[in-house]
Amino acid sequence: MGLLFKRTKILATIGPATNTKEAIHELVHAGVNGFRLNFSHGSYEERDQQIEWIRSYPLKPIAILQDLQGPKIRLGNLKDNVLVAEGDELTLEYDIEHDGKFHLPVQYNLAEKVKVGETIYIFDGKVRTTVVDIPNSKAVVVKVANDGVLMSRKGINLPDTDFGGDILTPKDLEDIEYGAKVDVDYVALSFVQSAEDVINLRQILLSHGSNAMIIAKIETKAAIEHDTLEKIVKASDGVMVARGDLAVETGAEIVPIIQRRIIALCRKHGKLSIVATQMLASMVDSPEPTRAEVSDVATAVILGADTVMLSDETANGKYPTEAVAAMKKIILYTQDHSSVASIDFLPGLKTRQDAISNAAVHLAERLNSIAIVAETKSGSTAANIAAHRPNLPIISVTSEPRAARQLALSYANRSYVRPDGEKAGYKIAKELKDEGFFGDADTVSVVIVSGRQPGVTGGTDTIKVRMVE
Ligand code: PGA
Ligand code: MN
Repeated sequence: MGLLFKRTKILATIGPATNTKEAIHELVHAGVNGFRLNFSHGSYEERDQQIEWIRSYPLKPIAILQDLQGPKIRLGNLKDNVLVAEGDELTLEYDIEHDGKFHLPVQYNLAEKVKVGETIYIFDGKVRTTVVDIPNSKAVVVKVANDGVLMSRKGINLPDTDFGGDILTPKDLEDIEYGAKVDVDYVALSFVQSAEDVINLRQILLSHGSNAMIIAKIETKAAIEHDTLEKIVKASDGVMVARGDLAVETGAEIVPIIQRRIIALCRKHGKLSIVATQMLASMVDSPEPTRAEVSDVATAVILGADTVMLSDETANGKYPTEAVAAMKKIILYTQDHSSVASIDFLPGLKTRQDAISNAAVHLAERLNSIAIVAETKSGSTAANIAAHRPNLPIISVTSEPRAARQLALSYANRSYVRPDGEKAGYKIAKELKDEGFFGDADTVSVVIVSGRQPGVTGGTDTIKVRMVE
């Protein structure tokens, strides 16, 4: 059939390397389905501009994901790099000037959160320390466990620290308000420790009138505790396997296994899964990915991830468009030569929606249909079908632009906005057929999933098979 259609989607981070309208549109042209705006950097003026550039792309809905910084803690500016050795004691103090030696500035008040005996990792885990004293309300003293070097603004991780549900900083709260104003499609929450963190964000979003979906970033030791992880997945609309910080906090060897578990839980509960960080890291400096990176992207596709993410590759790299093109090529080849891995726990079949989605996917595959068409208002009908990981496209049609943009990151989805979206299933299939999207067969069949009362969320009750000539 030769449909050039990615089932796993690409989310790209915008940064200095891609901060023009042309660069952004070029990335979409190369295969990007959504953009991550990393709120650890940049001003609201820059954001306004980037959002305008993204939304001016004419041909398809594109998701915008606002990534909140959360308690991403960093050293402040150091006068010079500081060499440390095993046994040294350092004082980490909020908002001071570096004394040139072991009295170091931190951009976050650690004393409010950590306890004596807890671990503090500095410089992405390169220097490991333990808290030995909290002399006052703004300073902590740590003992260094291994030789290393410290540099300005390097990241600090607190793998043992319980934030007690308080992971949003004043900056995050301001950024949430901004995101609600510009109507971002997704909000990603960094350093989630519990389902309560997600529930808390949901309330804040609603209080600002935002219907953005929440992506919980899994990057703490607390979040991967057995029961906690599933509760977080259930409370969220999707999760990101945030492998950068996750590897620092838990050890890199844990990440591949936890990645499998997270994607399986997302498939079970019909939530979006995003695999992030270092997927094509070498392409920051090189026009070709390494063998290992190609294998990493292929693995995510075989596991049935909804979305794979690019960070530095598109934000700061020399080859942003090449990175997207490489990712697309790997996705297309892999999906066409391997079935999606089956998972230990099947997606639920408890609800009517699940039963209908499951039946529609089997029917479409049996009939050799060219696509499943979902007439959907909120997007949930289409997202639910996606949870059953069909090996053919889900064409979703909706009257709601936000639903279409959110679905841009959903497995196997391609979304269209039409004023009569919840009744336009056959029409959209006919349009696509006429455009040649389904290849050159005279007649193709599609399976249309809809509700008898169009536009009523949760009212899905109809499966039709239609021939399109
Ligand atoms: P970050 O999150 O890039 O915002 O740190 C992703 C990760 O930690 O992998
Ligand atoms: Mn992170």
